Order: sequence, then C-alpha cells, then structure tokens
Amino acid sequence: MIKELLSPGECARCRECCVFEAGEAFALPVITDRVRDICRREFPLVRFAERPGGGYMFDIRSYADENGLCPCPVLTPKGCALGDDKPFECSIFPLRVCSDGDYAYIVLDSACHVMESKDTNVIKEYLRGGKGERIVKEAAETGCIRPFPCDRSIILYKGKTEHENNQARL
Ligand code: SF4
Repeated sequence: MIKELLSPGECARCRECCVFEAGEAFALPVITDRVRDICRREFPLVRFAERPGGGYMFDIRSYADENGLCPCPVLTPKGCALGDDKPFECSIFPLRVCSDGDYAYIVLDSACHVMESKDTNVIKEYLRGGKGERIVKEAAETGCIRPFPCDRSIILYKGKTEHENNQARL
C-alpha cells in the first residue's frame, strides 16, 4: 500500500488484495530470502513454495476455505503482521511492475477497487520525478518484475529496464 495514494483506513476496510483464490499462484507476492527469514523467525508455521523464476511464495494451499479463498498466512484482523517488512510487491500494491524485455511498465492492478475509482493522472504524477524509476529498480532487485502484458491493468509509467534477467516467471 502506497500511503501517499491510499490511506491506511481505505486499505484496512478492504484487505481484498491479501486474500487469494486457490490456484492463483501468479498473484502471490514474491518473497525474498530476507522476508522468508523474518517469517520463519516470527511465524514458524508459515510454509513456503519455491517460485520457478527464483525466490519464494507463500504456500497457501492448506489455507483455502469452503469458497476456495486463501487469506495470506500473515494477514491479521489488524492488517499485515509483517508491517514495514512486508514483501516489496505488497508495499507498492496496487501498482505492479512488468517488462516486455525492452521496457519496464508500472501498471495499476484493477483488483484494487479503491484505487480504480481514483484519477489515474494523480498516480501518474506521483510516479514522475524519479519515483517510477526507483520503483522499477527495487522491483528488479527483489526479482519481482512480471512478464508484460499484465491482465486487468492500466499502464501508468514506461521506462527502460536493464534487469530482464530478474523477471518473475509466474
Ligand atoms: S504479506 Fe502482508 S501485505 Fe502481503 S499479501 Fe500477505 S498480509 Fe497482505
């Protein structure tokens, strides 16, 4: 959640982005070694699966309810138990970073109904002046640049990337 664009209250009332459909592995955040180590220390019961493109993801299969919905294992009634240590993709959601090899794109994931109702020009303005570039760089460093095109998304920023090798493979 980007506090400049979404208030903590708006996210707390929704939390839909922390609940996944069974089999929706592509939507799970990329977990780095650092975040996995924090989880292992703080939440020893949380299980992980390896991602094909490197890194890890939460193994949510055993959390599905009768409707096939799987809340993230570190989601609490007060929000994400990881706080500022949450995965990078969670910290920028509903923005996502994708690449077609030549360019990196920051897109708005339309799964966020709160942000979808806002003026996209405000978000584009937020990404100018180096912010978009920094988000792309950190996405590359944490291995969470997704293949482009992304479904259900609106392009907000386009920039060069030199980090195609770090693309997530799901
Ligand atoms: S790690 Fe935190 S922010 Fe990310 S999906 Fe899980 S509960 Fe939500």
